[in-house]
Amino acid sequence: MTSLAFWSFLVEKSILPDATFIQPAPHILFVHGEEKREWLKRRVEKLSKLPAFAATEYSEDYDTIQKWSGLLCNGRPRSGGEVIAASRHPDGTEVNYGLLTRHLVQSFGELGGDVQLLSTVTALRQQADKRWLVAVHKADLTDSNQVVRARFVFAGGGGGSLSLLQMAGIPEVQGYGGMPVSGKFLVCQKLDVVEQNLNKVYGPAAVSAPPMSVPHIDFRSLYGKDVIFFGPFAGFSPMLFKVSGTPLDWLATINWHNVLPMAKMAMSNLPLVKYLIKEIFASKGAQLEALREFYPAAKPEDWTMVWAGQRIQIVNPKGELQFGTEVLSSKDGTLVGLLGASPGASVSPQIALEVINKFDKGANSAFQWHLALSKWIPCYGRDVNKEPGLYDQIMSKARKVLLAGNTAGYRSSRVNTAHLFDLIDLDHDGTLTMKEVSKYLLGQGMAKEQIQALVNALDTDKSGTISRQEFDEGFGKVVSSLLPKSD
Ligand SMILES: Cc1cc2nc3c(=O)[nH]c(=O)nc-3n(C[C@H](O)[C@H](O)[C@H](O)COP(=O)(O)OP(=O)(O)OC[C@H]3O[C@@H](n4cnc5c(N)ncnc54)[C@H](O)[C@@H]3O)c2cc1C
Repeated sequence: MTSLAFWSFLVEKSILPDATFIQPAPHILFVHGEEKREWLKRRVEKLSKLPAFAATEYSEDYDTIQKWSGLLCNGRPRSGGEVIAASRHPDGTEVNYGLLTRHLVQSFGELGGDVQLLSTVTALRQQADKRWLVAVHKADLTDSNQVVRARFVFAGGGGGSLSLLQMAGIPEVQGYGGMPVSGKFLVCQKLDVVEQNLNKVYGPAAVSAPPMSVPHIDFRSLYGKDVIFFGPFAGFSPMLFKVSGTPLDWLATINWHNVLPMAKMAMSNLPLVKYLIKEIFASKGAQLEALREFYPAAKPEDWTMVWAGQRIQIVNPKGELQFGTEVLSSKDGTLVGLLGASPGASVSPQIALEVINKFDKGANSAFQWHLALSKWIPCYGRDVNKEPGLYDQIMSKARKVLLAGNTAGYRSSRVNTAHLFDLIDLDHDGTLTMKEVSKYLLGQGMAKEQIQALVNALDTDKSGTISRQEFDEGFGKVVSSLLPKSD
């Protein structure tokens, strides 16, 4: 709720240019088998008493579930098979965090902030006046080193946060360790499959599986291209980052303060270790079987396996493996670090509030600080499940600003498509002629025959020109069909 409220505020204030990063994607929980049906029914009965879950629908009816997500019933017998059940929350969303981050960084720059890319923090040292000296290596052509002097430092380095806090040498980080776990997903780009499911469909977690491993069919809208992910499947790589560094970076985080907690974690989580090993060595067939629990008609040729990322799960000084996010701060409130990996992006505004409040100037600041935050985020410090009306207040604003109103990003491609139409429509008469389309696309290196085929495909009423509606409806499909086929 904090995320939706904050993003609504940012779009309303034009700090974010639009809401193309978010779109509706109802959240479904799907089960089969008598035992799980009973479990889901009881879950919905309990949860729907809370305002945030009051809109949850529940069904055991094949047709209703098929209407919610065609994939779940595709290849599943209508009668004579196992009992099925699903719950559906209509207020779920799909967020393109990459796009959101780009927009946030752009606004930060426009508002006077300075973003330095290609820069690696290599050392952190606190001086007697409590200020920090931050050594930065610039990986640009200067290949130079810089030192930044700062009153406050936030170490938000993802898998690199533990190393950053260890570099700073604060006693609060002693005993913490990091456990790398990779996430792999099956991905389908085939339009006729993707169109059957515009939801996030979750299943119950397997026995001994960590919470972030809940299997799900994940509809994603990536820069105008709709795809489905299925996973995650665990993998292992002794790295802190997905694309950079070496295994030595991880080994360097193990020291005499955390080696015992790490060993204790391994010993006390044997079922989890067994689960991870099973996952890592799961065959393609086993992965496809897991997918078929949701989508029985899944064909291997429609799915590709991708390595989606690297998580560094935190092991605390007691030797417990943490699946959430851990905010650590130095005693004097000048350095705050964010450890852990998941859940992350979706709850980042809430975590940012926790981070800010750990700084010496955060929660201890003037009353105005809290006043401003509650103006931006109506649920700041409040519980939507305890205050009647608060959930609806936030959700109706989010629907208006983010999901359905003029600024809504419903189907992220739509806004980009509209911009493109305006760009091609040189005489601004609201229709595109072959001449206008050719002028634009010849300049992009497209062949005449391809342009003719594109115009023919978009001009569905065969009037010889393309209306805005024809362009909106057909452009995404035509572009998708030009992409190389997945193997
Ligand atoms: C497979 C997978 C699926 C996920 N799915 C979801 C999901 O559906 N929903 C969700 O909410 N979350 C999801 N997450 C979790 C989410 O991606 C993370 O929680 C989130 O990205 C963490 O953001 P962050 O900014 O803290 O770290 P990151 O996104 O890792 O960013 C940290 C940045 O700091 C940089 N850095 C590191 N060390 C240094 C240094 N010394 N100097 C300078 N820069 C440094 C890194 O290069 C990186 O760019 C998923 C994660 C994975 C791996």
